Amino acid sequence: MDRIVYFDYSALMLLLLLAGTLEMRKMARGHLGRHFLILVITTTVSCVAEIADYYLVGSASSVVLLKFISNTIYFAFHNLTLFLYVTYTISLTDTWHIIRRNKFVLCLLYFPIAVIMGSLVVNFFTPFVFNISSDGYYERSSGIILLYAMAACYLFWGVFHSFRFRKSIGFNRFVPVVVTYLLMFLAVVFQYFFPRYQIEIFANTFGLLFVSMMVQRPEFTIDSETGLYKLKAYLSNIKAAFINEKELEIIQVNVTNYKSLREMLGYEGASTLLSKIGIILETIDAENRLNSEIYNLGGGKLRLVIEKKAFEKTVEVAEEINEALKQDVRMDSAGKIGVVANICIVNIPKDISNLESLMAFGDDLNTLPYTGKVLFASDIYKKRYYDIMRDIDSIIEQALINKKFEVYYQPIYSLNDNRFNSAEALLRLMDDKYGFISPDIFIPAAEKSGAIHRIGAYVLESVCRFISGETFPKLNLDYIEVNLSVAQCMRKDLADNILETIEKYGVKPSQINLEITETAVNYSPATLMDNLEKLTKAGIQLSLDDFGTGYSNMSRIAMLPLKIVKLDRTFTNAENTPNMQIVLEDAIKMIKDMNMEIVVEGIENENLLKMFSDLKCEYIQGYYYSKPIPQDEFIDFILNS
Ligand code: C2E
Ligand code: MG
Ligand code: MG
Repeated sequence: MDRIVYFDYSALMLLLLLAGTLEMRKMARGHLGRHFLILVITTTVSCVAEIADYYLVGSASSVVLLKFISNTIYFAFHNLTLFLYVTYTISLTDTWHIIRRNKFVLCLLYFPIAVIMGSLVVNFFTPFVFNISSDGYYERSSGIILLYAMAACYLFWGVFHSFRFRKSIGFNRFVPVVVTYLLMFLAVVFQYFFPRYQIEIFANTFGLLFVSMMVQRPEFTIDSETGLYKLKAYLSNIKAAFINEKELEIIQVNVTNYKSLREMLGYEGASTLLSKIGIILETIDAENRLNSEIYNLGGGKLRLVIEKKAFEKTVEVAEEINEALKQDVRMDSAGKIGVVANICIVNIPKDISNLESLMAFGDDLNTLPYTGKVLFASDIYKKRYYDIMRDIDSIIEQALINKKFEVYYQPIYSLNDNRFNSAEALLRLMDDKYGFISPDIFIPAAEKSGAIHRIGAYVLESVCRFISGETFPKLNLDYIEVNLSVAQCMRKDLADNILETIEKYGVKPSQINLEITETAVNYSPATLMDNLEKLTKAGIQLSLDDFGTGYSNMSRIAMLPLKIVKLDRTFTNAENTPNMQIVLEDAIKMIKDMNMEIVVEGIENENLLKMFSDLKCEYIQGYYYSKPIPQDEFIDFILNS
């Protein structure tokens, strides 16, 4: 039979080109890159063996022997390529942990290649797979069917695996991987019927080329300057880990003074600095044989991703990195540079169970105060918090529909009257999945999503219903304080809506006191002033909430038509230094001189109570008397007080 060998020549040239560029493009880096390089090499060996076989003609015994060897090599490496391509697919989808979980599946994976290699060994003794006749001709034997069957198993496995885990590699990588399997399959069928055309290797090579172009693209995953993996690679790898429920540990290194370093060193200098830090990380990684993948996410954020088998080294390595970064980094241009880095160990999915939360947490690491110690996400990270943040919009929507919101009341004590004269309405949210969610979380989220207007309306209605009910008069309360959020204050129709509601329930304007914050004034002074004017004209009184937080501005307070100023808990609980005492006394004096009254928030003990009653504040609110409690409990509380 006159075989056509040119396909093999073309394949050989492509393979050499591929191997060369792999090296030049730094593609042979990392587990996957090395794996791919080995694939190219095994294909090359089978290709060379096939070409050699073509030129081995004649009946000399040496030729017969060489022909036997070249065919054996061809079969061994050709099938090995297929096996390696399947394992490459497993690595690419990052699913080894799933395969290893089940010993049977793991055995199944190695079984066909063991059968193939075994058959080739047997073939040395008896022509089971093929034979080279004494006159130098190649003859198939019946056992070759077994090789085909085993190869078919791998083809099937590979395609099935790619399909099953297609989500973790994405469409762009899924297509070339599967197309390569298809090419291999078609080539085998074609060559079976037309043995003259030796196109199997060529088809394999073609597939590998496709994969190298579409999958192994370092320019998309590796930062050419630092040689570290990029954000994009981080996102796709972590995403795959979450999808495949693979446990990983991440050492997060955030250079918290990166912004000022960049201003000081310029972009180029900062990038050099990062390369140096990258080298420090790589060195520590190598010394500890951690085998982690190192990422540069930009903005001074670096990540080491560690596989489960090396978990026991994580803490030690993190500590080593911490110590190393405490030393100044030498820069030729700028001398020694002091890096401040927050380092934190995160386990996924134990500490954090989704990508968005992980990224948010990684950003927040910058805002944590520098302690000089390695941090643990399990200590600082409230998993719940980040999970809630992700779902908060739908949580709020569901809560509005299913009535999961409830208004609680916290009594406020009048020191002048010696009785509870009012209360603050505080909203509570009970979610089926997350349990109690703090308003500090859902109010800001509702402001962003716009749900705050419906929430605000709900609170006001609840309060009005309470006030207009039978028991309220028995409680001898002057008014209920209702919080208004910044977003509500920006609405032109705010005052009209409020007045409409209280009228609907027959509530007197003097029975409602609205709490606004100073920040509301920053956003929309004109609209806010219009609203406040309308409300005060109608007889609703106003409190300024959270005084003493942020940048309190006395002249602004003077501008607003306020009845009450509420001193915030952080202000009243501030460390009691002589200077703080002066600030507090002067603030109280100024507020009083403007004819406003004072509610002190967050009074938890007798000492604080005494201090503020000595300072002649009018009202006290705090856990000392009661936490915010449900309406029924609140009624009992007041009736029994
Ligand atoms: P805020 O208006 O300053 O409410 C006072 C907060 O201090 C309440 O927290 C209350 O439970 C807490 N507090 C009171 N006394 C003490 C104390 O002695 N010790 C301590 N540690 N805390 C005390 P809460 O209920 O978690 O509310 C947080 C914030 O959420 C509120 O701060 C308010 O800004 C907002 N918020 C709550 N309900 C509503 C609402 O219906 N509408 C709007 N727009 N905001 C609300
Ligand atoms: Mg309040
Ligand atoms: Mg407050």
